Order: sequence, then structure tokens, then C-alpha cells
Amino acid sequence: MSASTYAQQHRDRFVEELKTLLRIPSVSTLPQHQDDVRRAAEWLLAHLRDLGMTAELIPLEGGHPIVYAQSLHLAGGPTVLFYGHYDVQPVDPVSEWTSPPFEPTLRGDDLYGRGASDDKGQVFGVIKALESFLRDEGRLPLNVKVLIEGEEEIGSPGISRWIERHARKVACDFAWVSDGQLYAKGLPCLVTGLRGLLYTEVEVRGPSHDLHSGQHGGAAPNPVNAVAAIIAGLKDRRGRVTIPRFYSAVREPSGEEKASWERLPFREEDYLRELGIPVSPGEQGYSILERRWARPTLDAHGIAGGWTGAGSKTVIPAKVVAKVSMRLVPDQRAKTILRAFEKKVSKLASPGVEVEVRELAGGDPVLISPTAAPVQAAMRVVREVWGADPVFVREGGSIPIVAKFDRVLKVPTVLFGFGLPDDNLHAPNEKFHLPNFHKGIETVIRWMERVGTK
Ligand SMILES: [Zn+2]
Repeated sequence: MSASTYAQQHRDRFVEELKTLLRIPSVSTLPQHQDDVRRAAEWLLAHLRDLGMTAELIPLEGGHPIVYAQSLHLAGGPTVLFYGHYDVQPVDPVSEWTSPPFEPTLRGDDLYGRGASDDKGQVFGVIKALESFLRDEGRLPLNVKVLIEGEEEIGSPGISRWIERHARKVACDFAWVSDGQLYAKGLPCLVTGLRGLLYTEVEVRGPSHDLHSGQHGGAAPNPVNAVAAIIAGLKDRRGRVTIPRFYSAVREPSGEEKASWERLPFREEDYLRELGIPVSPGEQGYSILERRWARPTLDAHGIAGGWTGAGSKTVIPAKVVAKVSMRLVPDQRAKTILRAFEKKVSKLASPGVEVEVRELAGGDPVLISPTAAPVQAAMRVVREVWGADPVFVREGGSIPIVAKFDRVLKVPTVLFGFGLPDDNLHAPNEKFHLPNFHKGIETVIRWMERVGTK
């Protein structure tokens, strides 16, 4: 037989096992699900051991454990590191789900359930590819390390630090991450860039206690006004961030890359309609895809403080906090930008207030060369399995771990997701298109054969 034939013959069982994993409500952000998160980790651990891999749970202080497995039997052979996550997003509003989020339900070819696509279905697909080799041929075509974390949906705080300290344990030649989508149904894509994220909290303090605006308005500093002025001053009317040297490290995408984006089935009119906006207010001189993928930006997410309840209260609050983040692109560095941001914010502070910036999360952007050998191999295999040439795209969002693979392990990552753009990630009625599950498994099998020793 072959690994592919094995996978074909065990399709139904694979889906049943995935359902078992989906029934575990491993919501990482909610303390009441802590035991469930652990249960999902233990279930995967037992599953990987059952396949004959050496596996362990790696505890993270104050966090959810990493599931780590390996099979290193080819001395001198190449080593791949597979990454995924077993934690899921909360399910609210639960009343909008057609079937219960943790009771996986098949409707047509789609399996509904929280985590079906993000990321349990995809990471389990990788595991089933490994099983197909191990059960059919008794060995894998290359050395394999598997890293499945339980904190991706809360920003991967634990694993990012862990990687820094355990780079040798997870040393590899290249990495593979399946935690994403095709560009469109029938159009697979390989991701060649991710933006970084610098997330901050800006606290503005005025008087030592709340004041009455009738008695003190005009004489006392107002932190709400002050924070609004700070946010307003961080971007100009043309959509440019005003922080000095903010753009100095930004690398322009190549002409070739830009031309390939222009060939994508993306219409700006459709995008504006989908968002329900008349125009895009972003940086002038750049297409919408460039603004979302290759340009850095800055957004405020909320301001807490003062009076926001019903009716009026004439308060000048003592303190206000705003959440402000920046999406970063190569070769910007979160650390450098944080310092420049702090300086700019204190310059924008009006007289009489004190300002403090706290960093809540920071991750660097990453670029992956489309000509790297494992990416090229993926391109060929995706074409064979999906019947279409994959397009090379970037993503506006961040997967912090991929930046670590780039900066700490110094290896390229193949980013191939086999969900669909309408899988309802993080939303009610998340689903996974099962034909994609099986094609995903086949893709991983053929890729391993191609980059391995066979
Ligand atoms: Zn995910």
C-alpha cells in the first residue's frame, strides 16, 4: 500500500476521531474550561503515543501545556517541525449556533463545531498524515517534531518564551503550519508574509480624583480630551502614522510580488461593499491589499474612563485608559517601534496630564521566501492535490510563533491552511469542509514524501 491509500481507506474513522477531539471544550481564555484544555492536551498526547511517537506534555507556568512529540530515526536526514494549536475561541453568542458548538454535527459536507477549522481540524489532519506513514510503512519519510500549543487564541505568551529557551529541542530544517484558509474556494494559497503586532495600553492621569466640570472645567486637565488628542495626533488625515521614523525600516514588496497581487481575484468595490463603507481611508498611493498586507498601521480599540452610561454626568475623570495597537511589517521591529511610540505619545500629551504606556503584546513581522525549497515543494504538491496553482499572498494578521521560527530557529515556514474563507472562525457556526480535511491530509503526505528521503 502507500500512505495515501491508507488515508483514503480510513477517512471515516479519521472524521469520527476528529469529532471526539471537537467535543472537548478547550477554550483557553476562560478559567472554567481549564480542565477541558488539559483534557484536550492529554487526549492528543495519548493519540500521538499510540502512533508510536515519543510524546510529552510540557507544562508552562501559569498557562496551558504544550503537546510535544517526535520521531527522529533518520540520522542526518531532514527534520520538519509541525505546529498547530488545540485551544479554541469562546462560543458566545451561543444562541446563534444552529447546533451546539461542542457537539460536532455534519450538514452536507461541512462539519460544524468550535475548533473544527481553527485549528483542531487542520492540526489533526497533519497527525493523520503522520499516522498514514507510521501505520502503513512503519516509518516516516523524514524526522518529525510536533508542537501543539494550548494558548494560541490568547496570544501564545508561554510558547514564545519557551521557544527562546528551548531552541535546541525544536531545532529543525523547516516548519509547517496549517492554521489558515485557501484564498477562495478552489484557489489554494501559500502565505509569504505576516504582519507583526505591538499592542499597548495608554494610561492618562489628570487630577488626583474625579472632578465636577461645572466647578473645575476650563481650569483642570481632562484625561478624556487628552487621550483623544493623543490618538488623533498619531495618524494624519492621509492615513500616515506620525511617529518619527515609523516607516524607515519598511521594506517595499518587490514589483513581482505586487504584480501577483494584482492578478488575484480581489475587487476593491466588493471589499468596500462587504465592509459597508463608501471609501477606504487608508494610506494614499497604496492598493487595499498593500494596505492590509505590506503597510504598517495603527488602530485604537477602545477608551475606558469617564462617563459612558445612559444620560449625562458632568465628570472630569481622574484617569482614562486607551488600547492602541500597531500592525508592523518587515523589517520593522516591535522593540524599536515601542520606544518611538512612547516618545511620540508623551509629546502629544497636553499640559497637566501624566501619561504611561504599557506594552501588552509585541511580536515581529515575518517574510518567507517563496523560493525556499520546502515552499517550492509545497507549491508543486498543492498544485497536484488541489488541481490549481497556489497563489502567494501575505496576511495582515499575526502568528507570533512563525516569527520565532524565523528569528530563533532561523528556518522557513510553509504556511498552508486548508480551511475556507467562510468557515466562521471565532464566530458562531464554525465549520470545516470535510473534502478539504482529506485533501489537506493528502497534501501533507505528498509534501513529506517530496521533502523527505523517498
Ligand atoms: Zn488558529
